[in-house]
Amino acid sequence: MKIFCVGRNYAEHAAELGNDIPDEPVLFMKPKSALLQPHMPFYYPEFTNELHYEVELVLRISKNGKYIQERHASKYYNAITVGIDFTARDLQNDLKEKGLPWEKAKAWDNSAAVGKFIDFNPLAQKDEMNFKLLKNKELVQSGHTGQMIFNFNQIIANISQYFSLNIGDLVFTGTPKGVGECVVGDELEAFLEDQSLLQVEVK
Ligand code: ZN
Repeated sequence: MKIFCVGRNYAEHAAELGNDIPDEPVLFMKPKSALLQPHMPFYYPEFTNELHYEVELVLRISKNGKYIQERHASKYYNAITVGIDFTARDLQNDLKEKGLPWEKAKAWDNSAAVGKFIDFNPLAQKDEMNFKLLKNKELVQSGHTGQMIFNFNQIIANISQYFSLNIGDLVFTGTPKGVGECVVGDELEAFLEDQSLLQVEVK
């Protein structure tokens, strides 16, 4: 099982971190060990002093594929949820500045929190989907699918040009603006529309 992540997929988020709008999806990966198992505690890592939340829509791959065309991509995922791409922002800034890979800032154990999946039929989905993150019951991030630079099908098609997609792989599709810090004791709760699908307490 692989975890793909898309960076800079919302224009206002790219801008808030001082990045340009990409002309093809920015991809990175997290290993299986990055997956925070449901209801397991999340501990503030000792190697960062600037832990950030990034709420994202997460797709679950339902069919194996490679070189998938955009017009067929919607057949390759059938479940969706919200997740948090936890990021050691201080480390990431340091690595970016040096032109080094991001894994130490992004792919550490338990850095990928994933909510409860719900069935998703992209062909039946007519409207934009809204999602949001509350920190200590206050709204900190909200986004909708219409703001994405690359939509779900474009992302799937692009990933599959480089990597095989396998059943059970996860795709974090990027975070909207409003990323910020969390500290020990914070309670994060992520919603897809009005459904609360993920709760994480930072310990
Ligand atoms: Zn992210």
